[in-house]
Amino acid sequence: MEFRDSPEQQRFRMEVRSWLQKNLPPGWGAPGKRGPEIPAERFGFAKEWQRVLYQGGWAGLAWPVEHGGRGAGILDQMIWSEEYARAWAPDQMSISVGITLTGPVLIGCGKPWQQKRFLAPILSGDEVWCQGFSEPNAGSDLAALRTRGEVRGDEIIVTGQKIWTSFALYSDWCILVVRTDSEVERKHDGLTFLLVDMKTPGIDVRPLVEMTGESWFNEVFFDKVRVPVDNVVGEIGGGWSVIIDTLSHERVSASPHARLKAEIAWLQDLARRVPRRGGMACDDPVIRQRIARVTIELTALGVSAYRNASQIERTGSPGPGGSTLKLGWSELDQRVKELAVEILGPRGLLLHDDPDAIDNGHWSHELLWSRAATIYAGTSEVQRNIIAERVLGLPR
Ligand SMILES: Cc1cc2nc3c(=O)[nH]c(=O)nc-3n(C[C@H](O)[C@H](O)[C@H](O)COP(=O)(O)OP(=O)(O)OC[C@H]3O[C@@H](n4cnc5c(N)ncnc54)[C@H](O)[C@@H]3O)c2cc1C
Repeated sequence: MEFRDSPEQQRFRMEVRSWLQKNLPPGWGAPGKRGPEIPAERFGFAKEWQRVLYQGGWAGLAWPVEHGGRGAGILDQMIWSEEYARAWAPDQMSISVGITLTGPVLIGCGKPWQQKRFLAPILSGDEVWCQGFSEPNAGSDLAALRTRGEVRGDEIIVTGQKIWTSFALYSDWCILVVRTDSEVERKHDGLTFLLVDMKTPGIDVRPLVEMTGESWFNEVFFDKVRVPVDNVVGEIGGGWSVIIDTLSHERVSASPHARLKAEIAWLQDLARRVPRRGGMACDDPVIRQRIARVTIELTALGVSAYRNASQIERTGSPGPGGSTLKLGWSELDQRVKELAVEILGPRGLLLHDDPDAIDNGHWSHELLWSRAATIYAGTSEVQRNIIAERVLGLPR
């Protein structure tokens, strides 16, 4: 693996850097900037920024050119992520389901009309998607889901409940998995993958409050919701393979080290600014050692990300190595946020609306939010199972 940019990659890096410098929304480009506080406004801001990315030719970086993307290879995607994080550009997570999950799944498994109808508005930010997979008692064990889909003529009538559906309140469409056949021997059979218009009568979205005080995820109830059979992706009853395809996109972030690198640099700066025991936090040998430790772990994560990328380049497939990155990133992310709040001492309790909060309460918010990282997109325990069985070849 060559860690230095080739002249071509260096040119690409400079192009990304200069485009971001010229086009970032006003006030962005430094650590700690938050979007609008009101969720609906923050969501509108993310859509607006997506439009700017689209017009600049940067939406769907990894999507094939024939579907409106940029067709960038894995190493260029990494360069984009590194520069994006370096520039402290806005986080696009609230509208990411369309770009990272729905789009790639439709490109791989969708019908031509579905690709024609749905891909362009995802790229432009005009239509936003949510992911209706998890249910009470069906998260890690997704195939245990019980939301029913009854096939009646050219419609599927959906009744049941989803939970933890991020951003459902603001989404236009949902990728939804339902059980259309319960008389099956294997629970992975009899599932169907649907594209559902969130404005269809019978859908009730109820926000849940997270420990950050924000309300991003939701319970979604379906009461005899009529979905055209044409909106099935893949075959009726054959949804499991589409789910596996979706999850393979969810588990793989090619450059989990990028944002963390920017945050650790900011953490080092924090230690220079915050007083501790008569000096500054950075004078405390224990704090210095812990900062050194997370910095070393970050370097290891970055190297693993490049190793994974070179495997993808060679074989075209991410393989189970993506689990190592997800596990390494999510657990390191939590350690970084815990260290930051420890450096802050009692002021680590202050959130962004407190005038005495350092860095506008960023670190305390992030400490709370980071707890989610080891749960979504496959819990740490599930990732360890995958690594044990599929990377290390250990027995089940
Ligand atoms: C912030 C956030 C956003 C989310 N957004 C969405 C979304 O938009 N759409 C959506 O569908 N879902 C979403 N989820 C749900 C997420 O996918 C599930 O929470 C996750 O799959 C875990 O499922 P569960 O919560 O039911 O926990 P469970 O699967 O019940 O797990 C409970 C505990 O048991 C452990 N466990 C389970 N199975 C095993 C096993 N085989 N071996 C060892 N340990 C095991 C787990 O690691 C965990 O510690 C989101 C979750 C979070 C935290």
